Amino acid sequence: MEQEHPANSSSRTGDFTTLRSAYDAVVIGGGPAGTTVSGLLAQQGHDVLLLERDRFPRFKIGESLIPATVGVLRRLGIVERMEASTFPKKYSVQFFSGSGKASSPFYFGETEPPEQSQTWQVLRSEFDTLMFDNARDLGVHAHQGVGVKEVLFDGDRAVGVRADFEGESREIRSRVVVDATGQRALMSRQLKLRTTDPNLRQASIFTHFQGAVRDEGIDEGATLILQTASKKSWFWFIPLPDNVASVGVVGGIDHLIRGREGSPQEIFDQELSQCPGLVPRVEGARQLMPAQVLNEFSYMTRQGAGDGWVMAGDAFGFLDPMYSTGVLLALRSGEMVADTVDAALKDDDLSRARLETFTPRLMAGMSAFRKLVYAFYHPEFSFGRFLQAFPEHRIPVVKILVGDVFDRDFSALYRDLDSMVDLPSEGSQAGPTDSGSSQTASSAA
Ligand SMILES: Cc1cc2nc3c(=O)[nH]c(=O)nc-3n(C[C@H](O)[C@H](O)[C@H](O)COP(=O)(O)OP(=O)(O)OC[C@H]3O[C@@H](n4cnc5c(N)ncnc54)[C@H](O)[C@@H]3O)c2cc1C
Repeated sequence: MEQEHPANSSSRTGDFTTLRSAYDAVVIGGGPAGTTVSGLLAQQGHDVLLLERDRFPRFKIGESLIPATVGVLRRLGIVERMEASTFPKKYSVQFFSGSGKASSPFYFGETEPPEQSQTWQVLRSEFDTLMFDNARDLGVHAHQGVGVKEVLFDGDRAVGVRADFEGESREIRSRVVVDATGQRALMSRQLKLRTTDPNLRQASIFTHFQGAVRDEGIDEGATLILQTASKKSWFWFIPLPDNVASVGVVGGIDHLIRGREGSPQEIFDQELSQCPGLVPRVEGARQLMPAQVLNEFSYMTRQGAGDGWVMAGDAFGFLDPMYSTGVLLALRSGEMVADTVDAALKDDDLSRARLETFTPRLMAGMSAFRKLVYAFYHPEFSFGRFLQAFPEHRIPVVKILVGDVFDRDFSALYRDLDSMVDLPSEGSQAGPTDSGSSQTASSAA
């Protein structure tokens, strides 16, 4: 479903006269990951083609940024435009128990210097358009409305893509192909590399409200995470421009969808009525769109790169919406992929061994988030109790909430988390599945 927005330059499509038959890199998918990879590669002088299936602006869920995005946004040259935008400023995250009791907010400024102590809540239709236009400004050959049908291989080596250019199927060659197709995970499906995490079989139902009650002052743009009384689900509350708030519920797929009577809207309303921290904020507000559903969005790839190809963002893997890490991981993995591909193109070594050098660093950062996600879903875990028992871990917890997870050692935090609640082991990922996420609202993915 699309939100109403004035047409802007990025909706220019259909002009393929400058399209060539070969590029240094073809990037598939113009979301945050694809625009980061392509923009940074173009900055380095590479010849990059970016192909996006949809036409922007389009609706997208995933609206809360975390502060560690700022370094990549700065490299891309868009921090000033973010600062000049109407996106609400976010300084903190606050958690509410199933009885409605609030934790004290986790302010990013507790651990971060001023330039990284604040971030933004973004309307994705606008943010993604800004990122796409910026990639084009950086010299990327960028097209919308062009769906890539398959990655082309010569033996084991990716050599380009076949895409649908407004009804005309064309083959484009490239030295490297970057899959940034988000939850579509084109290459994971094509090569059957997708694995799901049995500990995170979640679903979400979400909508937007206008006129919901938000806090004041520095807390006005805070993300709120509110548990329901049953602790079987939780809500996010994300303030957006124009007094709109994004509100969504996340819970186990068995609890929220399977074996549950009623429409998505009815289930959303039932869950909302069980969330005492949220009801007073939305009861006088106007719902702006029908509740939408996304299922089974947590998964990983078993291989992040191969000869001539590499993945970034959700195409590589997605954890869980709990700590708003998706865009951060899209930007940071996009940056890692761009730096790896830049050096590989310069050395003319696009082998799997060379291209997958970034993956251990990315996986270690994702693992820091995953442990905290597992803890949150444990029925006996509460941040309040944990930090009362281990006050020395407040700073590492804020570091994770900020997204400052790369190249850090969180082993003492994990050890004490494990001593309080028995966390599932990360190795317990299920075998490969290539069926992918079942989205009942595919336009939202
Ligand atoms: C319920 C829920 C709530 C979330 N909340 C948050 C949040 O608050 N904060 C946060 O940071 N993240 C959140 N996320 C995650 C976030 O939305 C994603 O992690 C983020 O959008 C990933 O960026 P990406 O560029 O990898 O993928 P996407 O943003 O999905 O971009 C991929 C692009 O590829 C295009 N594409 C797909 N297939 C093709 C093809 N064959 N050819 C050409 N183009 C193609 C798509 O049209 C899309 O534009 C949430 C996710 C869910 C499920």
